[in-house]
Amino acid sequence: MEPSIERWIEANKSELTSISDGIWAYAELGLAEHKSSKLQMEYLQEQGFTIEAGVGGMATAFVASWGKGKPVIGFLGEFDALPMVSNKAVPYKDPLAEGAPGHGCGHNLLGVASMGGAVALKQVMESKGLPGTVRYYGCPAEESSFGKTWMVRDGAFDDVDIALTWHPGNTNAVRNSSSLADLVLKFNFYGKTAHAAGDPWNGRSALDGVELMNAGIERMREHMRLDSRVHYVISHGGGAPNVVPDFAQNFFDVRAADIPELKRMHSWVLDIAKGAALMTQTRFEEVFLGYAANVIPNRVIARILHSVMEQLGVPEWNEEELKFAGKMQSQFEPELITRTVEQFEETGITPGQTKLCDFVVPYSDRIEGGRGSTDVGDVSWVVPTAQFTTACYALGIPGHSWAVTSCSGMSIGHKGMLYAAKILGITGYRFMTCAGLRDKARAEWEHQLKGRKYESLIPPEIKVPPLPFE
Ligand SMILES: [Zn+2]
Repeated sequence: MEPSIERWIEANKSELTSISDGIWAYAELGLAEHKSSKLQMEYLQEQGFTIEAGVGGMATAFVASWGKGKPVIGFLGEFDALPMVSNKAVPYKDPLAEGAPGHGCGHNLLGVASMGGAVALKQVMESKGLPGTVRYYGCPAEESSFGKTWMVRDGAFDDVDIALTWHPGNTNAVRNSSSLADLVLKFNFYGKTAHAAGDPWNGRSALDGVELMNAGIERMREHMRLDSRVHYVISHGGGAPNVVPDFAQNFFDVRAADIPELKRMHSWVLDIAKGAALMTQTRFEEVFLGYAANVIPNRVIARILHSVMEQLGVPEWNEEELKFAGKMQSQFEPELITRTVEQFEETGITPGQTKLCDFVVPYSDRIEGGRGSTDVGDVSWVVPTAQFTTACYALGIPGHSWAVTSCSGMSIGHKGMLYAAKILGITGYRFMTCAGLRDKARAEWEHQLKGRKYESLIPPEIKVPPLPFE
């Protein structure tokens, strides 16, 4: 353990908390996080870090560095909000601004804990005169554009030895879970408009193209691997039934357990689109929106994170916080809470109370498959990377909801954030000061990659992330 890291975070907790609350109040969506990004950059500059802004073609992406040469330890931060989940820091639904974005994934906490860990590590290195470089990666648009993927393609992680990150959750846990590689695409179909009753023979329906494409996708679904996923919405289907639509649009996520399988699925999806256009005498264009690779877990880093988590001891919850969490849980179906408790019992833990997690989930070396997707995946293909969660919101409440927004703006979220900052800083210090540990993490990374090389599926001609929800 390195007690000075913990001390530094404790001594600076009110400043870190106020930056987190600032980002929480800004609640800026992906690629529009101008104030959130600036607030962090200014703080890091004051702390002696050098800033490179506009990384990966994104105005709000930045890399803050302190120190010189190897080793390089990178901390990953996020700070984008989600649409429509604005809420006050109260245990019931009450938007701060109706219909506005909110931090329903707790990224205000995510960014500030990683930044706090980086600055704490820098302080200790400076006072001890240690060699090496500390980096904080300000990674925008995780929710909408997979910002890190663009930074990876730009080479921002090429010289990093170890990357560390975390995510606000409802438990304190290190899990060796992967995630699904994901392609976000739109398919625009173009036909010919006509009066649907007067002269339909002069028209060609773009919606027919979209519908037959989706019929084809349903036939593909039967033959996909069990861990692959494909989902779509028809984002434009025409305006009125008596007008043959000359434009229609399909919006897709195509997901697979690894990059080669994702490429195979993508080429089948393209064949289906071609077939649908041929059958309907329409034409289509594919629009690329985003890409994320699957996560390569690293058990060497995970074990250290877990041991630091245990040695530090979990935050204590006071009566007020437990009451807040209980009131919040009562807004949701009781089954959500029961299911969470059952999950704990499977790991051999019977919690004393079921409002807020007050223990560390036992560690397992087992590698689990993932269901969602994250741009941490792309970083993990080029740098040995690991992540964890700390309890920042009430047990059993749904993610990406007003309830997470609420907890992320009050003491429950703050405590989880400060705990995460300490875990990150101390783990960073361990890897910074021990070449043997870094070598072990690298060997584990090579073992997990099994000779595979990272491939970015972003078309090379696209320089700047498109805005997916425009
Ligand atoms: Zn998130």
